[in-house]
Amino acid sequence: MSVAAETPQHFKVCSECKRTIAFSADYFRCSVSTCNRKRTGLYFCSVPCWDAHVPMMRHRDAWAETARAPTRETYLAELAEDRRRETEEREAAMSEESEKGRRIVGLSDEGVPKEVLIVVSKLKNYVKARSGMSTSDGVIEVLSNHLRLLCDQAIAHAGTAGRKTVMDRDFTAVVPADPASPE
Ligand SMILES: [Zn+2]
Ligand SMILES: [Zn+2]
Repeated sequence: MSVAAETPQHFKVCSECKRTIAFSADYFRCSVSTCNRKRTGLYFCSVPCWDAHVPMMRHRDAWAETARAPTRETYLAELAEDRRRETEEREAAMSEESEKGRRIVGLSDEGVPKEVLIVVSKLKNYVKARSGMSTSDGVIEVLSNHLRLLCDQAIAHAGTAGRKTVMDRDFTAVVPADPASPE
């Protein structure tokens, strides 16, 4: 984190005229909630600046609300708190995602090959015969990733069934329909 980001010299810049809004200064916000979102919120140094954004946003019923900028100390504390929470949420989401698969069967990340899993020429032949279209090479990686994901799900399915072998029914369980197999 750079020093400049750690010690901002002002609270915000006006969304319209780009003049700075100082700490502890009065400023204006829009009464419309979409103009006040945490990430994309609009800040105005004056009512004329607020006026200028109204036709652009096509507000039908809106007014300017006065607000008081926080002190630098308060603002820094808020920033630090936001960063801490974001990091926490990101870490929680990541560990939950990777836990899901590992919990049951212990999916490994080590020495797992990330190679092409499909027969490229046969895939291209199929698309060509079916539609006359050609197939871009980028498709191969996307489909291989998709197959890996399916395998992971089938592995988990076999694991919950207490098996050491992944079977066709583990795939039919995670793929909704198998058009090739007659009912
Ligand atoms: Zn302004
Ligand atoms: Zn607005």
